[in-house]
Amino acid sequence: MQDESIGFIGLGNMGQPISSNLLRAGYRLVVYDILEERVEEMVSQGAIRGTSPRDVASKSDVVMTSLPTPEALESVLAGRDGVLEAGREGMVIVLLDTISPITARRIARMASLKGVEVLDAPVSGGPYLAREGALTIMVGGDRKVFERCRHVLEKIGKNIFYVGGIGSGSVVKLVNNLLSLGNVALMCEALILGVIAGVDAKTIYEVVSKSTGRSFALEYKLPNIIAKRRFEGGFAIDLACKDLGIISSLSRELDYPLFMGSVVEQIYRLAKMLNLGREDHTAVVKIFEGLAGLSINF
Ligand code: NAD
Repeated sequence: MQDESIGFIGLGNMGQPISSNLLRAGYRLVVYDILEERVEEMVSQGAIRGTSPRDVASKSDVVMTSLPTPEALESVLAGRDGVLEAGREGMVIVLLDTISPITARRIARMASLKGVEVLDAPVSGGPYLAREGALTIMVGGDRKVFERCRHVLEKIGKNIFYVGGIGSGSVVKLVNNLLSLGNVALMCEALILGVIAGVDAKTIYEVVSKSTGRSFALEYKLPNIIAKRRFEGGFAIDLACKDLGIISSLSRELDYPLFMGSVVEQIYRLAKMLNLGREDHTAVVKIFEGLAGLSINF
């Protein structure tokens, strides 16, 4: 049994496999989710049921969150029966959620009134890498607090980076997601142009994956997700829209124009309007397939 008690709130596509890894690593784990069946599943694996975010915090040294929206996160932390109601000196909150650095800093300021430390520690890698305990984690906050929590992060991630003060982890994560989502959309558009122009998708994939146009989107997501039509689970278009909204607000806040990023945001918002919100972000391919009247399948 590891010394520190961990609390975990948000047992979804990411939170469920991450918390399973923490249990396997021997931590005493207290869990909470608004969906009872998700709590039940973790209790069956050996976790302790938390009755509210406050209850989780009262039983934990480190509280981790993996929630779908900044609104859900703020209500879990600062709302009624929230984590901060049980906040005390020495407790640490680790935000695994993708949020704005401005939100991370606001949460850290609120938490500091109770002597609670906060790290923003968003993750890269979907549910598959979460299951493997092989996420990339980018951490912002006080370096000493990071060092104290490193042993927990090492149980869920393979590449762990300390990137600076509070909010820095979120900055790096947002840059990553803008690139990742943009790469997927551009890859889909370019690929389908090639198909309409007369070359089959598999040939284009084989050649471009050995050429300068390659990307993780083309090399991994195209053959393993798009071509196999595996759009369930993963990183949902709803969450992609949430992240792109955070990115465009941040750019406005900084008076920094976002050209390509704005187009990328509109493409994912269109996908959401077309009822693809719950599908993996790679289902954005369906927009381009619809325009061309064909389907990528190999
Ligand atoms: P998800 O929607 O699958 O899971 C979120 C969980 O939070 C659900 O179980 C939901 O019931 C629970 N929840 C919602 N509101 C709650 C509340 N008020 N109190 C308690 N529980 C509540 O989302 P996910 O894909 O697991 O993503 C979680 C976070 O991780 C998001 O911030 C996302 O942007 C980020 N992220 C996701 C991925 C991915 O590939 N899915 C990758 C990296 C980062």
